[in-house]
Amino acid sequence: MRDRIQAALQSTETIRRARDFVVGSGLRRLPSALRRKLFYGQSHFCPVCESDLRGFLVLNRDFLHWCPMCWSLQRHRLVWRFLHSSIIDIAGRRRRMLHIAPEPGFADKLRRMPNLDYLSADLYARDAMVRMDVCDIQYPDASFDLVYCSHVLEHVPDDRRALREFRRVLSVGGEAILLVPQRHGETIEDPALTDPVERERRFGQHDHVRIYGDDFALRIEAAGFRAREYVTADLSSPAESTRMGIDPDRIYHCIAA
Ligand SMILES: [Zn+2]
Repeated sequence: MRDRIQAALQSTETIRRARDFVVGSGLRRLPSALRRKLFYGQSHFCPVCESDLRGFLVLNRDFLHWCPMCWSLQRHRLVWRFLHSSIIDIAGRRRRMLHIAPEPGFADKLRRMPNLDYLSADLYARDAMVRMDVCDIQYPDASFDLVYCSHVLEHVPDDRRALREFRRVLSVGGEAILLVPQRHGETIEDPALTDPVERERRFGQHDHVRIYGDDFALRIEAAGFRAREYVTADLSSPAESTRMGIDPDRIYHCIAA
């Protein structure tokens, strides 16, 4: 928490973020029926909560576009499409699913799916069913058929160990769906770097320990997976992406070998 405050105080965006925090908190407190009326429109659509919208909210950062109804972000809307694509077909066969750091917008929807034996987990157990350290998962080998983990590994110092743990708790042929912040080039990390301001500058956020590059798939495969990379264009046309507020991004579909 002290790191977070220190980073915020030194950020040139402090005032803007404080303003957006107040605006966002106020909007979240409005009854959903009123929000639906305020943001109703035909030009945009959120696939997660299936709301017709006149647009998405830009709050906290210019690149964060929130659904005013379910608070999904661009990557959440992309993943929701991916989960419902023929690649995953999340509502199809029976699966034991482990959802790491569950997104509030979809945790409840997944938990209610009758074909999923669903477990959500988080290191701090915020909104999750169990507390879990991804580097030391408290479940036996082959306990799950599907692991979904988005924007977590960039916080984990020993991410290779976490990937091995995902492999261990999956059955052979089981699937992991992984997303991380990425840019082109090689992964950049520096375990010695602890200054939150410098981390924000180099890795994009005060509590990130690296920024992944194009070599992320190699790290996944070293843990015992076959990895396939999907990009936004594989899942949604440019017109659909605009309408659904989805950015160019990458999703890794990993099969436990
Ligand atoms: Zn939504």
